[in-house]
Amino acid sequence: MWQAEVRIDLDAIRENVARLRAGTSAELMAVVKADGYGHGMLPAARAALDAGADWLGVCTLDEALTLRRAGVTAPVLAWLLAPGLPLHEGVAADVDLSAASVDQLDEVLTAAGRAGHPARVHLKVDTGLARGGATAADWPVLLEAAAKAQADGTIEVVGVWSHFAYADAPGHPTIDRQLANFHEGLALAERWGVRPRYRHLANSAATLTRPDTHFDLVRPGLAVYGLSPVVGERYGLRPAMTARARVMLAKRVPAGQGVSYGHTYTTAQETTLAVVPLGYADGIPRHASNAGPIQLGGRVRTIAGRVCMDQVVLDCGDDPVVAGDVATLFGPGDGGEPTADDWAEAAGTINYEIVTRFGGVRVPRVYD
Ligand code: PLP
Repeated sequence: MWQAEVRIDLDAIRENVARLRAGTSAELMAVVKADGYGHGMLPAARAALDAGADWLGVCTLDEALTLRRAGVTAPVLAWLLAPGLPLHEGVAADVDLSAASVDQLDEVLTAAGRAGHPARVHLKVDTGLARGGATAADWPVLLEAAAKAQADGTIEVVGVWSHFAYADAPGHPTIDRQLANFHEGLALAERWGVRPRYRHLANSAATLTRPDTHFDLVRPGLAVYGLSPVVGERYGLRPAMTARARVMLAKRVPAGQGVSYGHTYTTAQETTLAVVPLGYADGIPRHASNAGPIQLGGRVRTIAGRVCMDQVVLDCGDDPVVAGDVATLFGPGDGGEPTADDWAEAAGTINYEIVTRFGGVRVPRVYD
């Protein structure tokens, strides 16, 4: 008997990847960082590869090495690399590494020397996000260093890439500006003799809405898990995660009863309270106090009072709720249950944050 669980529908991941893959002539990198956006990195990666993903994308070297240790042989790109990491382990394991500055490239060169074979590098250009990526001023400097390292056989420049700031707002003027900047960055690379096999720019939103940004490789993350990066759109995707728990205790309380810490909710009449054993330590945002929707007994109710570390309370009126009943926080939505999008709205956040916080240490993930 389970108390709380996060169910992951791997068929949904396969279906989403197949749909995305069919919508582009580019190769597809399934982004599986952050434990597969909360869905489990390895099962998500395997499902994505089964369904036709060509690459996997992660942030950290650790994530990349975990994939390799699990026997994943597909190309893997890791792009969030602080100084001083054992990058030679990545090079030795055929992990593609991103470099956005001459300093980062130098670390990769050292790693290639130590690993005893050329490193596969993706040079990142900042086209306007102002996060990772070389600025317009630094890009020629990085290209010069990379061209030299490629000529002496220390690296292979496999990719040139960048990332959008605003692709989730189709039509936003920064999208065209970043695309133009990317073309300029590529033209400059060409002038330095850097002609990568993979030019890549598109996240989920751009993969779904802007085919002109697909180049040789698209990098969807969120859409792989069936969620839409654009509020109000579904794009035919199937959400893969369902979070639910069994009611731990149901009890009658009188009218005027303050509920949960700080008594921010008060019962209007005599009522049944249901205690659901999931809280902020399990991934429910505390911002969803008096706001998060939960389906119980065929009705969707709002959390009564504050979200606690381990539990939340629902005011169920005179519904015949008993301990053991299943409360569904979110799922695909086809059974009338709330979705991760509903939770994002209730908690003032984005669906990315809802799913990445679930399925952590305490709530077991179950794979369908
Ligand atoms: N590429 C990079 C560099 C990212 O950081 C991310 C995620 O944040 C993605 C691709 C995938 O983005 P999304 O989940 O919006 O598809």
